[in-house]
Amino acid sequence: MPKKNEMQIQFFSQSINEAFARVAISSFISQLDPTVEQLYDIKMAVSEAVTNAIIHGYQGHEEGLVVVKCSYEGNEVVITIIDQGKGIKSVEEAMQPLYTTSLEEERAGLGFTVMQEMMDEVEVCSHPGAGTTVKMKKSLEQQ
Ligand code: ATP
Ligand code: MG
Repeated sequence: MPKKNEMQIQFFSQSINEAFARVAISSFISQLDPTVEQLYDIKMAVSEAVTNAIIHGYQGHEEGLVVVKCSYEGNEVVITIIDQGKGIKSVEEAMQPLYTTSLEEERAGLGFTVMQEMMDEVEVCSHPGAGTTVKMKKSLEQQ
């Protein structure tokens, strides 16, 4: 098994691709022989970030590009989800538990909270009109 590795995928902003992103990342991370729980956590976090890019970033535009990068060095995993969609005015506010801009829809405003719970570190960089980058890290130490 290599000590260091990285991959990148890119797909259209369609909900059908959420499962694709989850499976692709799981398959890549499986090279590190993660526990079932670690793999579950990573899949959940990736799902939340990809869903946000599709729903909030591109807002129904189905041909926006979502990029998901994943790398590891030893047991340190870094996953980055990038969209060039709407962007977020206040990242600090958006990351508060229960904060959502989708009042009419059934959104709990817990996506970022889930990402922070499942991963060791979550960094969000966003500019209105330019897009959003979510970078998440997790150490897969043997539990
Ligand atoms: P839930 O994830 O529980 O279904 P939610 O998506 O509204 O609800 P979060 O995932 O925590 O909650 O996101 C909070 C808010 O941050 C969103 O309502 C949206 O306004 C903004 N946001 C998050 N990701 C993006 C993104 N990629 N592009 C633009 N806005 C975003
Ligand atoms: Mg969300």
